[in-house]
Amino acid sequence: MSDRINVSEIFGENVFDDAAMQARLPKKIYQKLHQVIEEGIELDIETADVIAHEMKEWAIEKGATHFTHWFQPLTGVTAEKHDSFITAPMANGKVLMSFSGKELIKGEPDASSFPSGGLRATFEARGYTAWDCTSPAFVRQDAGGATLCIPTAFCSYTGEALDQKTPLLRSMEAINEQSIRLLRVLGNTTSKKVTPSVGPEQEYFIVDREKYLKRKDLVFTGRTLFGAMPPKGQEMDDHYFGAIRERIAAYMKDVDVELWKLGVTAKTEHNEAAPAQHELAPIYAQCNVAVDHNQLVMETLKKVAGRHGLQCLLHEKPFAGVNGSGKHNNWSLITDDGINLLSPGSKPHENIQFLLVLTCVLKAVDKHAGLLRASAADVGNDHRLGANEAPPAIISVYLGEQLEDILAQFITTGTATHSIKRERLSTGVKTLPDFRKDAADRNRTSPFAFTGNKFEFRMVGSKDSVAQSNVVLNTIVAEAFADACDVLEKAEDVEIAALDLISEYAREHQRIIFNGNGYSEEWIEEALRRGLPNYECMVDAIGAYIAPESVAAFERFHVFSRSELESRVEIEYEIYAKTINIEAKAMIDIATKQIIPAVIRYATVLAESYNAVKMACPSAPVNVQAELLAETSQLLADTKAALKKLQQVTEIAAKMERGEAQAHYYKDEVSAAMQNLRTPVDKLEMIVDKSMWPMPSYGDLIFEV
Ligand code: ADP
Ligand code: MG
Repeated sequence: MSDRINVSEIFGENVFDDAAMQARLPKKIYQKLHQVIEEGIELDIETADVIAHEMKEWAIEKGATHFTHWFQPLTGVTAEKHDSFITAPMANGKVLMSFSGKELIKGEPDASSFPSGGLRATFEARGYTAWDCTSPAFVRQDAGGATLCIPTAFCSYTGEALDQKTPLLRSMEAINEQSIRLLRVLGNTTSKKVTPSVGPEQEYFIVDREKYLKRKDLVFTGRTLFGAMPPKGQEMDDHYFGAIRERIAAYMKDVDVELWKLGVTAKTEHNEAAPAQHELAPIYAQCNVAVDHNQLVMETLKKVAGRHGLQCLLHEKPFAGVNGSGKHNNWSLITDDGINLLSPGSKPHENIQFLLVLTCVLKAVDKHAGLLRASAADVGNDHRLGANEAPPAIISVYLGEQLEDILAQFITTGTATHSIKRERLSTGVKTLPDFRKDAADRNRTSPFAFTGNKFEFRMVGSKDSVAQSNVVLNTIVAEAFADACDVLEKAEDVEIAALDLISEYAREHQRIIFNGNGYSEEWIEEALRRGLPNYECMVDAIGAYIAPESVAAFERFHVFSRSELESRVEIEYEIYAKTINIEAKAMIDIATKQIIPAVIRYATVLAESYNAVKMACPSAPVNVQAELLAETSQLLADTKAALKKLQQVTEIAAKMERGEAQAHYYKDEVSAAMQNLRTPVDKLEMIVDKSMWPMPSYGDLIFEV
């Protein structure tokens, strides 16, 4: 028996991808579907029937008994409702396995169980899922059997988006249309379609499952609510790119195989900055497929961990004081004939198309910085952004020396005459190859960095969908392109007009460019002087969705209506309140039932020891017991007082009317009370006998996997 894996054989074996469709569908039907995918024409029911039938046959061969419309409601995770292929029994006692075009293209989950932010009253519970034929169907195999999963969009009866995918697809149409407009006016006559390409790098933590189960905070909230720092943190940096431990390596191999079967191009894996932290990056794909694949990556990471006695933590900040997890959303625009609009070429200063695209992105990001920040707003991410490790909560763009220099030339002279040359890297070792360095060094502290031929938006939280960020990016860049086209299409000399626009955008939006250390205090002050928004937390950030310039951009390109935006903001406030409420209640529970009793036991041991020593040997010193007892008792009293306060504010918060004010109360009062409870408890953890502490420590969790 060999466990050698033949990647090319298993890759995509559970996906009804283009190759599977080409092999199975009648030629005409296959061509029709391609037209639907590429030209966006409507799918007729006859074609859908044939596709559905073939898809079902294929899925049954893979062992599938059920099908599901797989969708992404606003809960942040995917949802599905399973139906079996079985239809009415036949006269001969057998059952018929069927799947119609109607079932393929439309589903009707009970919409009232998903957040809608008041878009749909519960008495109008009807919601529809509609097949997204641009993202391939797949068969998922797990303990429950095999299921045909059909990626779908989820809308209300009146067509309002109740999910992540619908606005994403709308934004992709917007950026496609405006990019083609821009290419045409600049003289491109061949490209037919422009698609945003996305490669989301996923960070995560892996801990031992048995230890995990002993931490009620991790189980209920995904992060530790208490925990003192271990003696060794990440200061040695010995794990970053370190050899991946056997157990983790076996897990990662399993994850890869599962993902490859699902057609996800899991490619690089390495240890991350924190101990027990890892990263998985796929090869980039078209935006909506990448978003779907990232959901599969997260599901798979969690599912496979269980098989190895491990637990995957996707929370942005599972351990306070230890580096958190994010997601880097790599984004570029690529034409159907292979032109990357963000590729600078060998002489960037002469590449007008590239420079115009680049400055349009600058303009978009500057104009909508708050909105882009809001797209990464998440309760867990509040512990990360601006917390001295991840990008700050302030949006800025890193371009690198070469591009910054070119834009500086434009700002002063209206054109550029040269590009700073890329140097050769010389290691001084003869046997190591010398190679040309990248045009720019990396700046890990930048939230929005140009990295060669793509932008990397690094603010997204590790457990969040990347859909929102891409909806925003696609829309705001579409808007900037549209504005540029409005000028260029009327210009007598397009080239001169384009050079003028590059200069104008570079000049007007240079405040968003920042190549320095984004983690420094000085940057926060500097950003304030530049007038850049700094939303430190989710409840402050999410209002940007309904700022006038946001509503205008979304409505102009039919990505969101105002009521859809308002509903989303409402949902975000609700999610915030609910999450903090669960955390507060978990803390109250753990402190009351586990921590206080343990500390009392320890205090009793100290008191008993004090008395026993005094009795046995009156002249022996007992000041250690006395001091520890005094210290422990004081912290215990502080804990009890903080617990009481947390209980009070949590009760008040829970009774408030849902919405912005409630969310703010949770942030200002409840979160603060949680921190005040944590402080004495973490001190106690450093004093109390380890064998009496009721849960595994940070050290146990992150160094012993
Ligand atoms: P990094 O630059 O962060 O070290 P890579 O070059 O490996 O990493 O790329 C990180 C991610 O960016 C990968 O998922 C990769 O597929 C993706 N990526 C590379 N080129 C592009 C592109 N043109 N557009 C979008 N994503 C891309
Ligand atoms: Mg990266």
